[in-house]
Amino acid sequence: MGAKIIDGKAIADEIRVELTAELDELKAQGIEPGIATLLVGDNFGAKMYRGAVEKFCAEMGFGYRDETHSADVTEADVIKIVESLNADPTVSGILPLRPFPDHISDSAVINSISVNKDVDCFHPFNMGKLALGEPTFPPATPSACIELMERYMKSEGIDPTDGFEGAEICVVGHSNIVGKPVSFLALNRNASTTTVHVFTSMKGNLEKHTSVADYVIVAAGFPNLINAAQVKEGAVIIDVGINRVFVCPSCEAINRAKKDPCRNCGADLAEAAAKTVGDANFDDLVPKVKAITPVPGGVGSVTNMMLAKNTLRAARLLAQT
Ligand code: NAP
Repeated sequence: MGAKIIDGKAIADEIRVELTAELDELKAQGIEPGIATLLVGDNFGAKMYRGAVEKFCAEMGFGYRDETHSADVTEADVIKIVESLNADPTVSGILPLRPFPDHISDSAVINSISVNKDVDCFHPFNMGKLALGEPTFPPATPSACIELMERYMKSEGIDPTDGFEGAEICVVGHSNIVGKPVSFLALNRNASTTTVHVFTSMKGNLEKHTSVADYVIVAAGFPNLINAAQVKEGAVIIDVGINRVFVCPSCEAINRAKKDPCRNCGADLAEAAAKTVGDANFDDLVPKVKAITPVPGGVGSVTNMMLAKNTLRAARLLAQT
């Protein structure tokens, strides 16, 4: 028996329909949600994300304001830009696109964002509220993991409250962006949450934790980190990882770089095809687990919808002030 593949795209479509109804209701009241991105310099990943947010705003019917500035802008000027976004009534949510250049402090910029426009929960005030179990803006990617789990539970006839309470959830990764906040979200639902990270692996203890988990949420940025031998029969795997890898044309082994010979058979990788994979070894896990999210088409598909949900919430908050 194979695993159920949790279809993030289909779930994202369901959420989109729900949010479109909410958006129409807001627009009927004269409330127009909008997102602003703040990009400083020309980091490739940040520029890609900026383009994706602009496209997503157009698709959702949200307003969009682009603040892109050259790498030589001063920190003081960046903070003035944030203040102008805080004051702009057409901007409900502000997304700082990192990394910033070295002379601009992340925390100085993030601390200057209005807490009511901090739609991806970067501000310490909002992270504190998340830790207390009262998040205004549950961050997008961690919320996407929880949403996928909830909808999966419902599809199996499990009440999500019951499904989370006392469930053994192992989160692999403890970054401020994914691992820590998703651990808080799971803990806030009364799961027995264990958070593991690179030091757990270095001590040889990763499997000790993953192998007893009912749910493994993996966000490590390490292809094929989790395989069948490390999880229990019937576990559910939520794979957050997005890794670009190169498939060896001779032996089909996955390699993280193209410039070196294949790590498995030593073949030249000049002609190797690029592929996007998660942190879970999908093919190895499918025969053993109960359900798994694919990459692509899993967590990433739902992340934007969670951001949209927070933007609608921010637009309501702004209209009340
Ligand atoms: P990150 O900041 O690099 O954090 C990775 C975490 O994994 C760290 O806590 C690290 O531990 C841990 N880790 C690394 N190697 C490990 C190992 N061998 N064993 C156990 N733990 C290990 O990355 P991130 O921003 O959290 O992102 C994680 C992954 O999710 C990336 O692939 C990223 O592209 C993806 N992502 C996807 C979405 C989406 O929407 N689907 C959104 C954001 C990120 P240490 O801190 O101790 O080194």
